[in-house]
Amino acid sequence: MARYIIGVDVGGTHTKVAILNLRGRIIAKDSFLTKRYKKDALIKAISSASDGLIKQNKIGKKDILGLGIGVPGLVDFKKGLVFYFVNIPGWKNAALKKKFESITGLATFVDNDVNVMALGEMTFGAGKGYANAVCLTLGTGVGGAVIIEGSLYRGSGWVAGEIGHIQLNEKGPLCNCGNSGCLEAYVGREYFLNDVRKSLKKGSGSIIGKLAKGRPRDITPELLTRAAAAGDTLAKKKWKEMGEHIGNALVGVINLLNPEVIIIGGGIAETGRFIFDPVRRTIRKRAMKVQKRTVKIVKAKLGNDAGVIGAAELVKKNIKAYRS
Ligand SMILES: [Zn+2]
Repeated sequence: MARYIIGVDVGGTHTKVAILNLRGRIIAKDSFLTKRYKKDALIKAISSASDGLIKQNKIGKKDILGLGIGVPGLVDFKKGLVFYFVNIPGWKNAALKKKFESITGLATFVDNDVNVMALGEMTFGAGKGYANAVCLTLGTGVGGAVIIEGSLYRGSGWVAGEIGHIQLNEKGPLCNCGNSGCLEAYVGREYFLNDVRKSLKKGSGSIIGKLAKGRPRDITPELLTRAAAAGDTLAKKKWKEMGEHIGNALVGVINLLNPEVIIIGGGIAETGRFIFDPVRRTIRKRAMKVQKRTVKIVKAKLGNDAGVIGAAELVKKNIKAYRS
């Protein structure tokens, strides 16, 4: 019986490849810069990294249950077709499942990276023990995933869960998706940092400019967390606004889905209480009574390994249906 799974996390910056056992433990892993490879060369690079790990660890192909891949983009899960990639320009309608299966001979499953992260968190992380959950990732973009009664809700065209494109203000700033005033247009990394830069220009007595050594381009979420921790009023105000925007979008999500838990991950979530406090406050203030009584707002637990752990879980959850 197969005892291992290959988990792959194609990130905007790094691609990670790992061998995991059936309990989600990482046995070995490898990574490389995603942008070093284009299109089919990326598929080959992933396959050879996985082959390398298999050989180094003296594992037979028969011992491998399958290959799971999480990608940043919109994915038709059934066909394993990636409609388009976020952060990997020009690659459209890529039949990843077919290509990987013909190269590796392994049963392959491809899904959106936030869906994959949600599977990992539900099985081994912050969502363990819950059946109804919503995941949110805060980074360059704002991703989302919905779990209903223990299963991912993918939607009729496979692209459900775009919490980042819930509209907060129809007259708001233009969003990447073409609409205006989406959550992402307020709290996506660059939108947020540009807003901070604008406020700094107005002059505010903030220490942010000093921390960035007078180079507004060098302002990062980490720097703003340091400023807020040092008591900087502008930094605290900007994090509070971000938390309130997220909270407002989640109020709608909570009223609609009545989840037990909302799991927030991604690099920007690392700022911790500066976001989580206003998110929780906004939900307490605005969500409907019964829904808000039980919902918990928690931070994701699996960190950097969430992608490969979730990708392995994607294989485990779907291999039976695949074989029958
Ligand atoms: Zn949008």
